[in-house]
Amino acid sequence: MQEKNTKLAIVTGGGSGIGLAITEKFVAHNIRTIIIGRDRQKLDAAKDRLGALCIPVAADLSDLGAIPALVQDITTRYGRIDILVNNAGINLKKPFTEVTDQEFQQILLTNLTAVFALSREVVKQMAHSGSGAIINISSMAAQYGIPKVIAYTASKSAIEGMTKAMAVELSPQGIRVNCIAPGFIATDMSAKALDNDPERKQKVLSRTPMGMLGAPADIGDAALFLAGDAARYITGVVLPVDGGNSIGF
Ligand code: NAD
Repeated sequence: MQEKNTKLAIVTGGGSGIGLAITEKFVAHNIRTIIIGRDRQKLDAAKDRLGALCIPVAADLSDLGAIPALVQDITTRYGRIDILVNNAGINLKKPFTEVTDQEFQQILLTNLTAVFALSREVVKQMAHSGSGAIINISSMAAQYGIPKVIAYTASKSAIEGMTKAMAVELSPQGIRVNCIAPGFIATDMSAKALDNDPERKQKVLSRTPMGMLGAPADIGDAALFLAGDAARYITGVVLPVDGGNSIGF
């Protein structure tokens, strides 16, 4: 059960990259954080590093049918859920005409439908306590057009629309819903997209006024802010954390 004054968060994809950095910030601020991911080893390594406030749960969120029982189990074990960060995501870099229907659906399933299904179940729990904060993770792909990421762009654009719809519908229940749009952050995902494509990397850096990639911890700081009481009057926003990339010339 929950100790007094310790909030409970769920961070999906919390075993690596941005999700791990968000978890680090949460744990450092005494937030008990359940990290959901597919890779048990990565999750366990995160727990070894972060200690008792980090709780690994191995699950594949694209298995939508398993989500209600997963959330029920978390609630039964740990009590009420205060914060949900929908961070897990996958990317597919491929020319538009080569993307199959199946690949498109797979990206949408993980990046969008699973976010909906998990949020729906968590909101049912948050509604009991009359409070909660949900943070969705979008991308620069939803701020302007990026070639060769059609499915990813569709999923992230939908996340931003869903953030606003959730924010208005859930406000009366005391639940705030916001979105972070990370710029180009140094993680495995961005390495895969940029390291073998110097032209793309140059393009990214040249339109980022601050002239560098971000660190996962930059997103962690923003998530900590949006999840906490300092953001109590903020809902429905999309916050770019991007070194100016989204407004760069
Ligand atoms: P990452 O690949 O390091 O992390 C993604 C995490 O999601 C992994 O831990 C993975 O196991 C998990 N995941 C994927 N599919 C899952 C599933 N079906 N079930 C459970 N877990 C699953 O990538 P990252 O760069 O840390 O990305 C995190 C989020 O940030 C993603 O939503 C991504 O789209 C977004 N983002 C990243 C960047 C960037 O530059 N790195 C930029 C914009 C947005």
